[in-house]
Amino acid sequence: MKTFPMFLQMAGRHVVIVGGGEQAAQKARLMLKTEARLVLVAPELDPELSDLVCQGRAEQVTTLSIDVFRGAALVFVATGCVGLDYAVHALAKEAGALVNVVDRPALCDAVTPSLVDRDPVVVAISTEGTAPVLARLIKSQMETLLEPALGDLAAFAGRLRPAVARVIPRQERRFFWNWVFSGPPRQAMARGAARDASRLVKDALADGGPAPVQGAIALVGAGPGAADLLTLRALRLLQEADVIYYDRLVDPAVLELARRDAERVFVGKEVGACAWPQDRINAVIVAAAKQGRKVVRLKSGDPGIFGRLEEECAAARAAGMPVEIVPGITAASAAAASLGRGLTERGATDRVMLATATCKPGDPDPDWAGMLQQGTTLAVYMGVQKAATMVRHLSNAGIPMTLPVEIVSHASTARETGITCTLGQLTDALHAHGVASPAIIFIRWAKGSTALALPECAA
Ligand code: SAH
Repeated sequence: MKTFPMFLQMAGRHVVIVGGGEQAAQKARLMLKTEARLVLVAPELDPELSDLVCQGRAEQVTTLSIDVFRGAALVFVATGCVGLDYAVHALAKEAGALVNVVDRPALCDAVTPSLVDRDPVVVAISTEGTAPVLARLIKSQMETLLEPALGDLAAFAGRLRPAVARVIPRQERRFFWNWVFSGPPRQAMARGAARDASRLVKDALADGGPAPVQGAIALVGAGPGAADLLTLRALRLLQEADVIYYDRLVDPAVLELARRDAERVFVGKEVGACAWPQDRINAVIVAAAKQGRKVVRLKSGDPGIFGRLEEECAAARAAGMPVEIVPGITAASAAAASLGRGLTERGATDRVMLATATCKPGDPDPDWAGMLQQGTTLAVYMGVQKAATMVRHLSNAGIPMTLPVEIVSHASTARETGITCTLGQLTDALHAHGVASPAIIFIRWAKGSTALALPECAA
């Protein structure tokens, strides 16, 4: 490490900013987050800075002298003039100050990191100037991980430390704080229920410790594949889960976001195999929750769309377990986005139909012709193997075989592919291009058109 991160004591100290323009103002904004007194050294200040002086939040000094730097916690130099920057830097160093000259790394004792501010929780990120874009990316990831109310929870915990030290025996304190920061108090605070969070912690203190952990089940949508199409709620639950049961279609990149020590259990049904029949999945989920574990049942896309959600919900409810459903982005939405269009188009397709081609064994074939009327986008899930039957039904019902069809497989992932053809060409096109599951087949029948002429099957 060329630079070493430290948190400077700012209370009761002063920070000097030399310069009166935008760069000086940027540093002033940053320093206003701290308890330091601000001293602005410049003959003239821009309106933002002079407002700070008027409000009594900063003091202006118009003549430069070494004395202003003595005892300063930090000195920022942003005069906008190279020669002056060097001269001020030399003077500040002579006073023994820690100096940062804006945009002149060679003259910096200290560099300001990217900050994720949940005061009093502060994360500082630095790449030592090698990759500022990466620092910003890390910052935005941290911003999503740390809910805005986290600082309030930490401050609240700080105020309670003496009481916790009095009431909770030393060997149980770590468990107690873990419960505060990963259990119900944090969840309550995160959803904006500060009073509930406070009551939970105070009740636990009154009872000499938190009530035994209750298991819970969350049926969580993992989205179509790309990890950044996950919802923030799904991400939070993945980070809180003790155990995650996931499907074949859940992308490994999504699982990567789970808590490092969470147990991960694959309960997918490999094609042709059925190692994990639904009953067994229901049973293990409920059993884990009954042990007091936080269970995430991670399903691709939206768990409420062709995800056998109702069966797992019913099993959980029958066992008296609380169950939460977290919607996700369904494959059809992602596939439409990949094609650069919406699922509906005003005036052309005012209706979108999500249908599965693979129903319960023994059920009759879907009523394809009933679904596909003019003005409809039909999004067919699990349709690759059943395409020939579907086309036969549609053809028998007199649906134009010239309707445009788009197939997107592995939407939103690195393996994504897209094919366009007509309804009549669908079976051959799937075969010719070796389209494999998972894929969405869109059939569009726009209003006012019998069919849309398309070029020969194109990949
Ligand atoms: N609950 C999921 C659907 C599960 S059924 C959702 O809401 O998306 C499984 C089917 O979903 C697959 O056979 C395929 O038709 C579709 N599917 C899932 N992920 C997909 C993806 N990334 N690209 C295209 N289709 C996908």
